[in-house]
Amino acid sequence: MRNLVVVGASLAGLSAARALRARGYDGRLLLVGAEDIPPYDRPPLSKDYLLGRAQAADLALTTDSDTALDLEWRLGWRAVRLDAAERAVELDDGTRVVTDGVVVATGATAVPLPGTARLAGVHLLRTLADAEALRAELRPGARLVVVGAGLIGAEAASSAAALGLNVTVVERGPAPLTRILGRVGNEVSAALHAEHGIRLITGAAVTELAGRDRVTGVLLADGRLLPADVVLVAIGSRPSVDWLAGSGLELDDGVVCDAGCATALPNVVAVGDCARPYHPWLRRHHRAQHWTAALEQPEVAAARLLDGPGGSSAYTSAPYFWSDQFGVRIQFAGHTGPDDRVEITDGSFEERSFLAVFRRGELPTAVLAMNRPKLFGRARRLIAAAGPLPAAQRPR
Ligand SMILES: Cc1cc2nc3c(=O)[nH]c(=O)nc-3n(C[C@H](O)[C@H](O)[C@H](O)COP(=O)(O)OP(=O)(O)OC[C@H]3O[C@@H](n4cnc5c(N)ncnc54)[C@H](O)[C@@H]3O)c2cc1C
Repeated sequence: MRNLVVVGASLAGLSAARALRARGYDGRLLLVGAEDIPPYDRPPLSKDYLLGRAQAADLALTTDSDTALDLEWRLGWRAVRLDAAERAVELDDGTRVVTDGVVVATGATAVPLPGTARLAGVHLLRTLADAEALRAELRPGARLVVVGAGLIGAEAASSAAALGLNVTVVERGPAPLTRILGRVGNEVSAALHAEHGIRLITGAAVTELAGRDRVTGVLLADGRLLPADVVLVAIGSRPSVDWLAGSGLELDDGVVCDAGCATALPNVVAVGDCARPYHPWLRRHHRAQHWTAALEQPEVAAARLLDGPGGSSAYTSAPYFWSDQFGVRIQFAGHTGPDDRVEITDGSFEERSFLAVFRRGELPTAVLAMNRPKLFGRARRLIAAAGPLPAAQRPR
């Protein structure tokens, strides 16, 4: 291979480029990125950047040593088509880049609130530009309604409360972080919201946004109107894979690929938030949507791309993420099911420091920690060592 293209110039794309060079690939390496700025780190966008403790320059992902990688950048260009027959990536200015192999690393976009008007004061939070626009409106005393209490919603709510806003969070599920943390995590997160003066409304659906040009409120299905000066919609993300339609890749909530991030097309791999590799630990395909996976999957994908179809590299780490909210660090690894037993094995919520282990039968399936990074690190290794989830009990 002498000519590779990485589409998507963010954490996963840059990590793929670094991994390819580290494995000795010395041909042309082109990175195409739709954003017209160099790669930056997204996790601070809902945390230190919103709080004004970090500026855009602090988020840069590239370092001085990356100049030695001899990367060719095409920033501000969007790939619009993958032509498998001609082995070409088509860009939005009509350019066709013929290539020996492609790393798909186009990540995800934030999902807007369906069926609602586009009003000033309504924000999404995925890009630096989004965060900049939101930050400009977070003035002390303003009323912010956050729709969705997932990780990004909870973190942004926490930042806004610290800035002195009057914050309400509306969540459709029974508790914050419902989809990803077990019962203990839900209770902890709900308690943290309450403690920081955030009004949390769960089991509630948003039907409409009120306002003519600018948002003035959020209407719930039960008829309640929540007055709002600013609204953040944080109801999830959608993989950015529309440009791959008709390419021959299997697209189903991301680019479906094997455990080595290899897709249905030869010499095309997919990594990061847009990829849905088979996960041997979970025994199913899984789109991770977390920073660590976007950093680690490219190692595996680069090996697979360079080794060819005979390669056997696989991404096997148990799912992991962290979240900083309300002055505490939450870390989670593994997967919880509704029937898992949970035991706090160290510390307590009252101390704002604990480790909780989830088990199915005797098998540890997940660990959750608050402000216990060292203990968590050890427990995370235990989860990995316990091996894949048993087939009979794996999540649906
Ligand atoms: C506000 C926020 C906070 C977060 N906090 C945490 C956290 O605390 N912990 C954690 O584990 N994870 C967190 N994450 C998740 C983490 O940032 C993502 O998992 C990670 O950014 C994924 O990297 P990626 O490179 O796969 O995708 P992305 O970062 O989404 O990058 C994809 C890039 O591809 C570009 N692109 C898209 N389509 C095209 C195209 N057709 N052509 C060219 N370029 C294209 C996009 O413009 C983008 O620059 C957070 C995410 C956000 C948004």
